[in-house]
Amino acid sequence: MTTFSVRFLGCKVSYSDADALKERLLADGHSEEGSGEAEIALVNSCCVTREALAKSRQAAAKAARTHRRVFVTGCGANLEGAFAGLPENVTVLSGQSAEAPERLAGLIGRAGRAIDGRPKRVRAFVQIQDGCSFFCSYCVVPLVRGPARSKPAEAVLAEVRRRIARGHKEVVLSGINLGCFHDSAASVSLAGLVREAGKTPGLERLRLSSIEINHVGPELVAAIRETPTACRHLHVPLQSGDDGVLRAMKRHYDSATFLRRLEGLDDFNLSSDVIVGFPGEDEAAFGRTLDLVGRASISKVHVFPYSPRPGTATEGADDVPAQVKKERAARLRDSSKSASLRRWRGKIGMEERILIDRPGRGYATDYTPWLVDGPVGEIVQAEAESVTEQGIAGRVRQP
Ligand code: SF4
Repeated sequence: MTTFSVRFLGCKVSYSDADALKERLLADGHSEEGSGEAEIALVNSCCVTREALAKSRQAAAKAARTHRRVFVTGCGANLEGAFAGLPENVTVLSGQSAEAPERLAGLIGRAGRAIDGRPKRVRAFVQIQDGCSFFCSYCVVPLVRGPARSKPAEAVLAEVRRRIARGHKEVVLSGINLGCFHDSAASVSLAGLVREAGKTPGLERLRLSSIEINHVGPELVAAIRETPTACRHLHVPLQSGDDGVLRAMKRHYDSATFLRRLEGLDDFNLSSDVIVGFPGEDEAAFGRTLDLVGRASISKVHVFPYSPRPGTATEGADDVPAQVKKERAARLRDSSKSASLRRWRGKIGMEERILIDRPGRGYATDYTPWLVDGPVGEIVQAEAESVTEQGIAGRVRQP
């Protein structure tokens, strides 16, 4: 038996890649340990920003000092030279992420029967598609993950059933460009998949990970509204609220389209991603982003200061000074924090069902964070009493 530790960097897809590696090694009889005790370290890397790649390199270099062997997988592993110069005990597994578990298993070997006794896990990420064919001008993801392709709907539904049988209460359908999901052989769209997966016996909640605005349409919204388990939360990347910047980003929508597609979604909680300091973004353009975030009623923004990525159309462009990016990022984060607090305050006195995902903390169906006590993995009915920086402080209502 080999002991291993797992670390992922980046998005939900990276999490689900790392989870698949972990599952495979556990199935082969190996054992997961804290990074201080494990012989082998798995680092599922990210290269979507310069900072994410630097952190991935640091994680691999650090693990090389404390582990016998380190395997680097994920998006960064496919970026040529990204992990060059690291010690000899670091192996970079490039190639398609779907094949990484099998390759890793071949390198480590089987130890015997799987050991089960893992702590209860609450939320499962089920990947339904991989890759992206959009080629936004700044984005390295299509280069490292390849073109968009979907899993067969039946395979996704089987994975949802398997996760529920293992005790997961919530399933998050995830992908690199989720809305591109389409099983053409079985004629199943993302909306159809939501309806089918949402009916799985034992499932409490079905959630979508990030989805592009051009894929948010009446069919999908109706599927979410008409599926009782589907959560009314959408994470819709905006990236910029300025039409000139959006054109330069090759995002294929403008600010008016972004707003129009979100019209009538007052019963949804909306969150988003924004890049600040994109080449050519001046103060007025950034102001339009701040304004649009407010007009779209986005309650939470993940802010990414722009960094040029190798091989992309904007590789050679980076004209906004670092200090300006930092200052804009701080202003946008402040505005996001205020929007979150406003939204949470509006819930005081209300009751919601909270899925406890770690001690003292959980999430409502719309992905609002709550600070509330209850058994991990259970859903409790709670009343919102006050608001803190971390979420709504609530009290469990006895049934
Ligand atoms: S949609 Fe654009 S930003 Fe998103 S993964 Fe594809 S190319 Fe990158």
